[in-house]
Amino acid sequence: MSEKFFDAVRSELGADSVDTSDDAIARYGFNRLPGGDRAPAGVIWPSSVEDVQVVVRLAGQHGVGLWPTSTGQNIGLGEYSPVRDAQVVLDLGRRMNKVLEVNEKLGYAVIQPGVTFRRLRAEMAERGDKLMISGTSGPPDGGVLGNALDRGAGYTPYFDHFGMLSGLEVVLPDGDILHTGDGTFAGAKTRYINKSGFGPMLEGLFSQSNYGIVTSAAIWLLPRPPAICAWAFSFPDDGDLPEIIDIVRGLKATNFVPTLIKVTSGAYGFATEATYPGYEPGVGALSDTARRELEREHGTGAWTVSGAFYGPSADALEPMVRRVRDMFEATGKATYISHEEIVHNPVLKIHLDTFSGEPTESELGLLDWRPGGGATWLLPATPMDGEIAQQHQELSRRILTEHGFEYLVEFVCGPRAARALHIIVYNRADDAERSRMRDCYAALVEAYDRIGYPISRTPTDYQEQAMDRLPELKKFTGLLKGALDPQGVIAPGKYGIA
Ligand SMILES: Cc1cc2nc3c(=O)[nH]c(=O)nc-3n(C[C@H](O)[C@H](O)[C@H](O)COP(=O)(O)OP(=O)(O)OC[C@H]3O[C@@H](n4cnc5c(N)ncnc54)[C@H](O)[C@@H]3O)c2cc1C
Repeated sequence: MSEKFFDAVRSELGADSVDTSDDAIARYGFNRLPGGDRAPAGVIWPSSVEDVQVVVRLAGQHGVGLWPTSTGQNIGLGEYSPVRDAQVVLDLGRRMNKVLEVNEKLGYAVIQPGVTFRRLRAEMAERGDKLMISGTSGPPDGGVLGNALDRGAGYTPYFDHFGMLSGLEVVLPDGDILHTGDGTFAGAKTRYINKSGFGPMLEGLFSQSNYGIVTSAAIWLLPRPPAICAWAFSFPDDGDLPEIIDIVRGLKATNFVPTLIKVTSGAYGFATEATYPGYEPGVGALSDTARRELEREHGTGAWTVSGAFYGPSADALEPMVRRVRDMFEATGKATYISHEEIVHNPVLKIHLDTFSGEPTESELGLLDWRPGGGATWLLPATPMDGEIAQQHQELSRRILTEHGFEYLVEFVCGPRAARALHIIVYNRADDAERSRMRDCYAALVEAYDRIGYPISRTPTDYQEQAMDRLPELKKFTGLLKGALDPQGVIAPGKYGIA
């Protein structure tokens, strides 16, 4: 079945648009999750929206499932590899990688799936740095569109990457095209600036789903402020978290601090630079003594709180920094870390970079904390209520420690909820550790479900199980899938939608 399909694609798109070699299958099947690599049947590289339409129609005729991906850098969530074996990876990013338009006055760029954070940052620099991107702390070669469609997020005021998309161009499972928002009116001049147009808002259908393949969209961009001043505080004890969260809530509820505020565990910080001391297979969680030593060495404390102000000059920002100092220092526990110190500390510089729209590779150091390359994200939301955040800390620390892993957690705080980023780094080459990791993830999901805090963005290994907990959503999304994609052309099983 697949061979006939690949032949048909070759004859329409050219022989060099398809790769079914062992090498390509290994490369595109690789991921860092505990379930093992998942081999696709092959890879296709379209060059245009018309190519994507052709591939989708041929997939329907030949009964083939496609796995669309932009740049495949979803590290710890599945990378390029499909949700099910033998789906065909549609790698949009390789050839569809242009910035199609930049509007500096209205603040947006229209991009194809292959435009990475690094590329968009460079484009802004070439144009005189009038606009600032909102990046991630992850791979600079991640794609702006792929990240947004998976509801990834950043740290600047434009952190809600999916919310910053406008005017999506989508290839539907029958090969037709849908333009969202005002874009559905042919010739609309407002396609990239007005989302609240006529009829239902359809954009949401195309995030964390398999109802369409997005071939371009505008991403809104913030004017780059003339001055950015970052600040941080370290706190000595794990138990300082409730007090920190309650202060941060006030700072975000009033929007006094324009960036999101990060509350980063010591281990999440130092593991970007350090490796597990004396690691050997079978080790348990790092001891508290070793952790304290690394926290001291890297200047993180048990918690690092960080944020940034934007304004016309460093001098103008000084009184604002003074005000956050007064608030945190009133606890009697906070140690202030200035912008200058942040610039020279590689662990803390990550925060400044992410608040400034500068792609950084430094946080990828987390992936080497233990050998063997395993990493999996667990992403529940935590209310901005100190007492509940403390309950979450205790729960996660207990379960991670029982399974032999470190508490690598960063709360990325808004006014009401924080993204509680948990990364579990494990030795994927060691079967016992991999199996402990699987049990640990299941125990965490079960524990958070029990107290009413479900996970959000989910690694491909767990997406079908995760949907099985949600019968109401499963029924509704299944009905939509049946109506839009009865032949299962686009990624059946993605986020449990089939
Ligand atoms: C240390 C570290 C730090 C990280 N920090 C962050 C962070 O701060 N914020 C964050 O959000 N993530 C973070 N990540 C996670 C991840 O690496 C990034 O989100 C990355 O940008 C996602 O990969 P991508 O952009 O290449 O998307 P892709 O891998 O291309 O795609 C992601 C998902 O979207 C779907 N998709 C992609 N393109 C399309 C399309 N055109 N049409 C339909 N569906 C599509 C894919 O099927 C896939 O499910 C981090 C990872 C690591 C290891």
